[in-house]
Amino acid sequence: ADAFVSAVEKARGLNAFVIETPEHAIAAAEEADRERAEGKLRPLSGVPLGIKDLFATKGHQTTAGSRMLEGFTPPYESTVSGKLLAAGAGMLGKLNMDEFAMGSSNETSAFGNVISPWRRKDGGNAPLTPGGSSGGSAAAVAARIAPGVTGTDTGGSIRQPAAFTGITGIKPTYGRCSRYGMVAFASSLDQAGPMAQDVRDCAAMLEVMSGFDPKDSTSLDLPVPKWEANLSSDIKGKRIGIPKEYRIDGIPEEIGKVWDQGIEWMRDAGAEIVEVSLPHTQYALPTYYIIAPAEASSNLARYDGVRYGQRRAPDHGSLDDMYNATRAAGFGAEVKRRIMIGTYVLSAGFYDAYFNQAQKVRALIARDFERVWQDCDLLLTPTAPSAAFALGEKSNDPIAMYLNDVFAVPASLAGLPAMSVPAGLDQQGLPLGLQIIGKALDEQGVLNAGLAFE
Ligand code: GLN
Repeated sequence: ADAFVSAVEKARGLNAFVIETPEHAIAAAEEADRERAEGKLRPLSGVPLGIKDLFATKGHQTTAGSRMLEGFTPPYESTVSGKLLAAGAGMLGKLNMDEFAMGSSNETSAFGNVISPWRRKDGGNAPLTPGGSSGGSAAAVAARIAPGVTGTDTGGSIRQPAAFTGITGIKPTYGRCSRYGMVAFASSLDQAGPMAQDVRDCAAMLEVMSGFDPKDSTSLDLPVPKWEANLSSDIKGKRIGIPKEYRIDGIPEEIGKVWDQGIEWMRDAGAEIVEVSLPHTQYALPTYYIIAPAEASSNLARYDGVRYGQRRAPDHGSLDDMYNATRAAGFGAEVKRRIMIGTYVLSAGFYDAYFNQAQKVRALIARDFERVWQDCDLLLTPTAPSAAFALGEKSNDPIAMYLNDVFAVPASLAGLPAMSVPAGLDQQGLPLGLQIIGKALDEQGVLNAGLAFE
């Protein structure tokens, strides 16, 4: 019990939790003791987990990193967190995140940025970002505060923070994990997934988190495979595709080095390395930054000061005055930027030029992947174009921030399973990650290839 309390206290220095619930984890550990005595342990009995604050948790405040939802206590549990708790896990707390999961550095959180437990060798003690939007999640695992956490990934938010903090995180195939009770950002992209110390823990958690849910209309009605039991690091004969379009100019040499090293490791492990082409890769980032804000602007229309969370109602004002005051005070700058972009690209005069066009390009990007599976079984790429950057370094430059998602968004647009595994350190001693992308529903292939790196 003391361990759980001291773990959440340690997390305060990193600002990893928005709310702390060690008593919940303690109760789960006590329950696990009883189950052990009776020989009736569940898959995650007594395991203390952190839950990203995007998941609605019954009776516990859920903010999605936004002032707008401050004080909002859901009367229901998200499917994913409910499954983890039903498997015996205890909740240490709700993890800090970028506001409504919009960001790559955790700096858009209304509750302050998260600090990575890592430091650059030459950087003095300058604090670094843990990545985002699941930055609290990544920091908690990297600092050994929680053995596993939930993340969500719309355009890289599990994989990029995992890479920045030297941990493992997998975004499953779109539809594997129910979105019920997950605060919506861009519904056609949002997926939950686990982040943990290694592939095995991710496999065990993902197995619990996945499964058909009639409460999510895009949930896949398929049985959940036994990923953990079927883990195998044997990748002999697997064809690993290296997409040439991911060799982009202007990224640090060390990213390319770690990638080449990963290719060599896989070759040594008996895999066949093939150069492949995904010709529409360069359009993925602009496509994502049209579709995601468009869906966000629609999803976030629900925050009207009536149904959820905060309300600002000026005296003697109209209904519109209340909407305006509530949304002006409740949303941060990045969220407002996305709502404006999204509203613009969906507006009558611009719909065909932007949103509709982006939907077509999205289909082309998905088709690139469908074709590439004729030549290979999995793809290996860097997770992010840089190591963790300093807090403040990109926070006033949205384009630089968006560019950090360049390798993550194609798999998101195509709905494919993708995982980041730690692949070494750069010269500053900071972790770099490699990304393994698989065919739809081939989480097993992705996990197994990841295991080959451990
Ligand atoms: N960084 C991306 C964005 O800001 C992805 C975020 C995410 O995956 N939730 O949209």
